[in-house]
Amino acid sequence: MTFWMQKSLAEMTQTEWESLCDGCGRCCTVRLKRANFRLLTRLGCPLLSPDTGRCMDYANRKERMSHCNTLTPESVGNWLPNTCAYRLVKEGRSLPEWHHLMCGDRERVHEGHSVRGWVVPMEPGMDPIKNLVGYEEG
Ligand code: SF4
Ligand code: SF4
Repeated sequence: MTFWMQKSLAEMTQTEWESLCDGCGRCCTVRLKRANFRLLTRLGCPLLSPDTGRCMDYANRKERMSHCNTLTPESVGNWLPNTCAYRLVKEGRSLPEWHHLMCGDRERVHEGHSVRGWVVPMEPGMDPIKNLVGYEEG
């Protein structure tokens, strides 16, 4: 048994909490709530790097982007992508085999599960509806 199976999100140490993030970047994309599903778009936060799939100024993100959420055990919910490790643990589900805590490789997430290589930084005038890439329940 490993910590994410033994502990709730609220019981995790800061190191455990941070290690849970798979670095997919999907929570930093524009996702539109519609009834019981969400429309997914290729548009991302302007600070989300298409090259790395990472925030380009994580230390100052709150000052630079007012919409940027700080995750807490309480705020984790179905507004997050359905592959988000925090959401999976909170819902009592297993981490996917490509998660670095399962496979030991932080690059595996970028083999089809992260925003690296396809996300487009949102600019004024861009229409999310014209940039749809799919949908998911929740
Ligand atoms: S500012 Fe926040 S929402 Fe934007 S890329 Fe950074 S962490 Fe993601
Ligand atoms: S969706 Fe979840 S696992 Fe992926 S980057 Fe965001 S917080 Fe981390």
